[in-house]
Amino acid sequence: MTTRRDFLDKMKVTALGLPLLYHSNPLLAHETPYQGPMLRVAIMGLGSYGNRVAEAMRECKNAKLVGLISGTPSKIPKWQKAHNIPDKNCYNYENFDEIKDNPDIDAVYIITPNALHHPQTLRVAKAKKHVICEKPMATNAKDAQEMVDVCKANGVKLLIGYRMHFEPKTVAVIKMRQAGEFGRIRFFQGQSGFRIGDPTQWRLNKELSGGGAMMDIGIYSINGSRYMVGEEPIWVTAQETKTDPVKFKEGVDETIQFQMGFPSGAVASCLSTYQMRHLDRFFMTGDDGFVEMKPSTGYGPIEGKTHLGPLTQPHKTHQTIQMDEMAQIILEDKKQLVSVSGEEGVKDMKIIEAIYKAAKTGMRVEV
Ligand code: NDP
Repeated sequence: MTTRRDFLDKMKVTALGLPLLYHSNPLLAHETPYQGPMLRVAIMGLGSYGNRVAEAMRECKNAKLVGLISGTPSKIPKWQKAHNIPDKNCYNYENFDEIKDNPDIDAVYIITPNALHHPQTLRVAKAKKHVICEKPMATNAKDAQEMVDVCKANGVKLLIGYRMHFEPKTVAVIKMRQAGEFGRIRFFQGQSGFRIGDPTQWRLNKELSGGGAMMDIGIYSINGSRYMVGEEPIWVTAQETKTDPVKFKEGVDETIQFQMGFPSGAVASCLSTYQMRHLDRFFMTGDDGFVEMKPSTGYGPIEGKTHLGPLTQPHKTHQTIQMDEMAQIILEDKKQLVSVSGEEGVKDMKIIEAIYKAAKTGMRVEV
């Protein structure tokens, strides 16, 4: 069993806080220059997050943006110029299956509305390219599982854009929990939300979003509870509130509070909303310590403290670390602290379905 002393020795935690955690973590530090192969990526969906990923990839050491897939022809020349992309690597939603014959693209990063992730992933997999897919990976668990199966059958990897799994402070906290620093975990609290604007956007259209705040932002509390507590929930309860049924139509959740129970007896209490500001916070307490992170899943810098003091790992652009790490996962089978595989995404989809069912029926639902 790992003792607190073992942990402190191993992690070189100082009395002043945790400044050495980051430097002692070879997973994140990029201390030694990367010598391996380059992952050549095409982005599908040149929207707001696609642009953020593309900009972040400028700083990547082992992943490179080389291709574009878009349904808006006018975006292509601007993106080509900005990222030096040749004509032969540009596709639209009708012809992107032809990517199969393009030896210069290894992977496609799907950054389109949620409901498109499933059919697009199947097509990319059948074109024998690796898939990186944004969260939520699908709009239901059945489609999500099919994505995993089809990628496997076609011999390509499927990774989900869980950028927090690579974020330095988050990784440090997960390592502390694994080392027993918090003692037995008793309680996790996740608050994930923002106030959504434009009522005509796809996020409020069930056909494209698959749901509401839960699919978009509540998923951070679900996924976060799993990597923070280190267990899979076995039951959920949930309560939905809707203050604006015009903006949030049938099947588009505005606010859901939900609770989860874990095998050890730990419990979680979470809030997912499109109606409240300033909600980006994780708190976890165990018998020997606590951690509070706020912001906890935004683009950062993430901030937080534990019973030992502030988390001081330096901020790095999330999507840059993510893509550098994903390149190594895809090309070199690099193992991660917390998986970003399709299977992980399926687990979140099953929990989302259980939460929707619990909110609808008022019953406790087993996961
Ligand atoms: P945007 O609306 O800004 O962009 C989506 C893009 O998808 C569009 O610009 C468009 O690109 C393409 N698209 C294809 N079909 C449609 C359609 N029918 N309606 C609208 N757009 C379409 O969305 P985001 O970039 O914010 O979100 C995209 C995905 O990324 C979502 O799944 C979201 O959950 C995820 N995301 C993840 C984040 C994270 O931190 N991991 C943060 C933000 C979003 P084109 O014109 O090139 O075809």
